Amino acid sequence: MNFSFKLKRRNFLQTSLWGLASLGGLFYSGQSQEKPMSASPASWPRIKEYRLLGRTGFKVSDIAAGAIQDEGVLRAALEAGVNYIDTAEEYPGHHRVVAKAIKGRNRKSIFITTKLAVKKPNESRASFLRRARRCLEELETEYIDCLMMHMPERAETLQTPGFHQAMEELKATGRVRFVGVSNHGSFWFKDPAQTMDQVLLAAADDGRFDVFLLAYNFLQMDRGDKVLRVAHEKKIGTALMKTTPIAIYYNLKKRVEDLEREGKKVHPLYREGLKRYQAKLARAEGFIKKYNLQNPEEIKAAAIKFCLDNPHVSTVCCLARTYDEMEKFISLSGTRLSRSEQARLELYRQGCGELYCRHACGLCEPACPHQVPVNTIMRYHYYFATQAREKEAMSLYQLLPGKKAEVCQECPGYCEKACPYDVPIQGLLLLAHSTLTLS
Ligand code: SF4
Ligand code: SF4
Repeated sequence: MNFSFKLKRRNFLQTSLWGLASLGGLFYSGQSQEKPMSASPASWPRIKEYRLLGRTGFKVSDIAAGAIQDEGVLRAALEAGVNYIDTAEEYPGHHRVVAKAIKGRNRKSIFITTKLAVKKPNESRASFLRRARRCLEELETEYIDCLMMHMPERAETLQTPGFHQAMEELKATGRVRFVGVSNHGSFWFKDPAQTMDQVLLAAADDGRFDVFLLAYNFLQMDRGDKVLRVAHEKKIGTALMKTTPIAIYYNLKKRVEDLEREGKKVHPLYREGLKRYQAKLARAEGFIKKYNLQNPEEIKAAAIKFCLDNPHVSTVCCLARTYDEMEKFISLSGTRLSRSEQARLELYRQGCGELYCRHACGLCEPACPHQVPVNTIMRYHYYFATQAREKEAMSLYQLLPGKKAEVCQECPGYCEKACPYDVPIQGLLLLAHSTLTLS
């Protein structure tokens, strides 16, 4: 008898709570705790460092506001000196949050970036203009500092004529000041040659993009390092995302236990995937205890300092859900990675790196006979599990074309064999599917 991976929201929440309790918070949970403020924003630390955003000439705070959904938290961040805000047409309702948060502030002191995805190669200038004007209306602002092309999957998308014609017009009328591009990888099975670095390096050569937003962290540097170096040479501003790849993947075990308790058959391949995943998780737990890495906040802070250490980085987008989280991010402004923190990150990389499916990767995707977009699914899972963007992650997963991770239960796991980082990806995909699919 086949079993359904559909998981009711209530069950997921119970699972998460169980995981937190049983593992004693060994890993960063990323779940919003709605904590009260530990201090009033007036007594917060302030931003200590502003960096040049490439040829825009704007000095941006080294800690930037990612897609912060809480208007009060965003306003408090601005009050503390954060002056770079990242948003996008695709972030539901976020433009309105930004509009409220910036109300009454000196508009010239804030750098706002928003993004438009190219919906089809021949999308017209008029369509981009219409969408950009809607962004302006929602943001209640006279101009957008940087309008980015949102995650082009292929280098040739960068050339989309309608996009550039619209940008030229918007720049000429003062409604957009600069143009940028964001990227965190594409569907490799469609074209393995189109990696994040190749798309962004093509954008650097193109010359029309002034700011890059890219995925980069201490576990995934190889692709980003090249981009950051070239961007620096060409005076392109750089903002980072996905900088704290510290997540929990412990609830797969509970899921299988639930299925068994309910008398449902657990597919042997699911059990196999789980076994491999569990072995790596146990190793990571042992490592964390042995080297005293129990404090996830320390690792998270070190992960951000690692990014701030890079002189080619203009700013790091931080997605805070609570006042406490924002305060902690702001306290990192102007800091650098100490030798001991560097050593701890290296230990974390050794012990837990295998549990992280690298953003902007996709190396294993050509091995999948069903063309499952492995990296994209794991990104959506990251949104759900670490960024509290549950509804958005689930709806994005629902909208994915082609086969989803439900096919992974009956597969020998070709992708896992192809992963050069030894990520137990089959088990993680099954977990992602059960998390992102509600009945
Ligand atoms: S499983 Fe491995 S190869 Fe596949 S996308 Fe993740 S990190 Fe890359
Ligand atoms: S487990 Fe199999 S079906 Fe699922 S992504 Fe990997 S290769 Fe494809």
